Amino acid sequence: MQIKQHPLVVTSLGTERNIVSFHYGAAGVDSASNEGEKIYIQASLHADELPGMLVAHHLRTRLAALEAQGKIIGTIIVVPVANPVGLSQMMLRSHLGRFEAATGENFNRHYPELITPVAERVVDKLGMDAKQNVRLIRQAMRDSLRLGSQDGERDVEVTEVTSMRKVLMSLACDADVVLDLHCDAAAALHLYTGTPLWPQCEPLSRYLGAVATLLATESGDNPFDEACSQTWWQLAAQFPDKPIPMACLSVTVELRGMTDVNHSQAEQDADHIIDFLKYRGAIKGDAPPLPPLLYPATPLAGSEPIITPVSGVVAYLKKPGDWVKKGEIIAEVINPISSHVQQLKSGSEGVLYAQENRHFAVAGMRLAKVAGATAFRTGKLLSA
Ligand SMILES: [Zn+2]
Repeated sequence: MQIKQHPLVVTSLGTERNIVSFHYGAAGVDSASNEGEKIYIQASLHADELPGMLVAHHLRTRLAALEAQGKIIGTIIVVPVANPVGLSQMMLRSHLGRFEAATGENFNRHYPELITPVAERVVDKLGMDAKQNVRLIRQAMRDSLRLGSQDGERDVEVTEVTSMRKVLMSLACDADVVLDLHCDAAAALHLYTGTPLWPQCEPLSRYLGAVATLLATESGDNPFDEACSQTWWQLAAQFPDKPIPMACLSVTVELRGMTDVNHSQAEQDADHIIDFLKYRGAIKGDAPPLPPLLYPATPLAGSEPIITPVSGVVAYLKKPGDWVKKGEIIAEVINPISSHVQQLKSGSEGVLYAQENRHFAVAGMRLAKVAGATAFRTGKLLSA
């Protein structure tokens, strides 16, 4: 196992932060060279979403043992603390881990878009050998992310957070599998991935016991998982006469809710990730039989936000993981002064996969999400 430190750009006197990555198996492996897969797993990019951090801890124990037994084929990288900036943002006893305090930017948006610089680099080089194309494209991705940092000049546009995004992307962009471990406010385990990746993602949904998998090709504002994978289907569309596989299975794994941080679930999740990696062939050994798929994937554009039109105290009548029918009441929002009770009904049939963990609502607040099968939304598809 190798430990690597990746210093972030220092933008304030007296501070210096690092991303720490743990590399198991053979370093520098590129799967296109038949030496096994590269797997990248990071936790807590939204720094107050902590189930993944505990899963990463348990994964590291398992990976160290597997490495000692010579069972890791290729390389597996774990970044247990993906966002040291957000981790430090304690405000008035609350942890502000989703948005950068200085800019209000969501830490999981605005990752580098690679299609233009990569397409420029590979346009004259792509051939009819899919593996060679994968190698070329990955090299072009690495080169595109390196640009601007080699000339010795400090780019004034680069902030601590933009440098953090670049470090994380550089570690992940050429991986075969990228797992970005998050959680929702209160939720059952669910996944987000690219629509073309569903066939590769389905075994992961089964092993993890996901109640929903939300699919999109363009969620809006470049979240991390999509920035890693999207280039592949964009290139395939741009060069339809060349074999370009979906070479990066990148998935946002929502490990239930904010308070679901405990050893038993985290150990189970770590075991299920190992099962999936055995299934992929990244770890030697027999993977357990595939468990049943709890719910087929649905379009992210079919996920219905349940929004309250009024303010009040919230009583949930459904819980994460429940199946709801169209017209069923999900929550009541009660004004204890007027005694008005606002019922919030689902407009879709599907799994209620996430809901708010707060019980005071202001008008316009999104209180729950239902994974409906029919796409109806357009524009930016993720929560702010
Ligand atoms: Zn998150």
